[in-house]
Amino acid sequence: MSISQLAKDLKESATLAMTEKARILREKGEPVISMAAGEPKTKAPIDAILACAAKLTAADIQYTPTEGVPALVKAIIRYTEDNYGKVIGPEHVMATAGAKQAFYNLMVTLLNPQDEVIILAPYWVSYPEIVKLVYGKPVIVRPEDGRFVPRMEDITRAVGSYTKVLVVNSPNNPSGAVYPADLIGELVEFCEKKQIYLVMDDIYHKLVFNGVRAVSCYDYARDHSENSRLIVINGVSKSYAMTGFRIGWVIANKKVTRAMVNVAGQNMTCPSVVLQAAAIGALNGVQSSVENLRLLLQNNRDVMMTELNAFTGVRCIPPDGTFYCLPDFSAYEKDDIKLAQFLLEKALVVTVPGSEFGAPGHLRFTYCGTVKEIMEGVARVKWALDPESPNEIYIGDRKFRRDWL
Ligand code: PLP
Repeated sequence: MSISQLAKDLKESATLAMTEKARILREKGEPVISMAAGEPKTKAPIDAILACAAKLTAADIQYTPTEGVPALVKAIIRYTEDNYGKVIGPEHVMATAGAKQAFYNLMVTLLNPQDEVIILAPYWVSYPEIVKLVYGKPVIVRPEDGRFVPRMEDITRAVGSYTKVLVVNSPNNPSGAVYPADLIGELVEFCEKKQIYLVMDDIYHKLVFNGVRAVSCYDYARDHSENSRLIVINGVSKSYAMTGFRIGWVIANKKVTRAMVNVAGQNMTCPSVVLQAAAIGALNGVQSSVENLRLLLQNNRDVMMTELNAFTGVRCIPPDGTFYCLPDFSAYEKDDIKLAQFLLEKALVVTVPGSEFGAPGHLRFTYCGTVKEIMEGVARVKWALDPESPNEIYIGDRKFRRDWL
C-alpha cells in the first residue's frame, strides 16, 4: 500500500509518543512518573462543565457557523478586550478545534508552496511539521548557546524574499521563557515594516510567574487598519485546563479571517457545538480557576527548580511561564533521545528529548503533576545518572539496582 510522500516525511509528535509509552507502561502496572505531558492535571472549571451538560441535556446538537456560535465569538471578543485591551469585531474571530488546528488552518490560508516561516528555537514540535504539511518551508532561528530567547539580529538575518510568516510563542513551550517586552516591540515593528505576518501563539499567556507579564503584540502595533498582519492564536486548553475540549481561536484581519473560515468550512465544518458551549462557560464564568492553576504551577516550578539545582552538572534557566522547563543534560549525555529512553527504561520517568524542540542536549520536564511526583521524578533521574547516588533504590515495592555506572 502506498501513502503520500508528505505523510511519510511527517514526524510523529514526540510528546504524544512519550505520553503513549507512559500510558502503556502504567497499564502494565509499572510505577511510571510522567513528566512529558503538555496538560494541567486540574479539573476543568465548573462553569464549563455546567454549560456543556446543559447543551447536551437540551439535545440540540447541530452544526454551527464555521467561525463558532455568536455567543462564543462574543466571549472571545470580550476576552480580547479584557486581556489585551484590543477592541475587535466578530469579523476578526474564528473559533477552532484547539489552537493546533488554528495554526494549521492559518498556515493553509497564508502559505504558498515554498513560502518560508520563521520559527524560533526552542519551538513547539508541531510548528515545523504543520508548515511542511502545507508545503511551506520552516526556517529555524536558534538562540545563542545557553539561552532561550532569540537575538533580533539572527531573526533579521533569516528573513528573505520568501518569508511570509514569523511565529512567536511566549511564554514558550518547551523552555518556559517569556520574551522581553523590547523584543516583542522590535518584532512587531520589524514585521509591520517588512509586511510579514506575525503570528503570536499566546496559549500560555496567563500562566506566568512571580510578576512576569507576557506582553501583547497589540501594545506595539502602529498599523491598526484592516491591513494589519498581526495574528493572535489562543484557546481554553491550557489556562482553563481544558485540553480535551479542543477549543481554540484566531484573531486576524477581516480578509485573513474570511479566507480562513472558508478553509475551515471545507476541512471541519465547525468546532463541536457541545465543546463550544463548554468554552463559553469557561470564558464567561468565574475566572478563579485560572489564577488557582497559575499559583499551583508557580509553586510546582519552584519545587522543580530546587530539585534540579541540587543536581550537579545540570543547568536549567528558570522558566517564567508555562508548565515546562528545559534543563541541559549534555554534561551527562549529549544524545538526548538516547537519554530520554534510558531514563524511561531505568528510572521509569518519562521526559521529552530536547532535539524534538530544536534543543539538543536538553530534556523537557513538565511540572503540572503533584509536588510528590516532581520530587520523586527528579530524584529518580538523579539516581540513574549521578554516580554519587546510592546504588539501589525502591521504586514502588521493587528494588532497582544501578549496574550501569
Ligand atoms: N501551541 C503551543 C505552543 C502548544 O504548546 C500547544 C499544545 O501543547 C498548542 C498550541 C495546542 O493547543 P491545543 O491543545 O489547544 O490544540
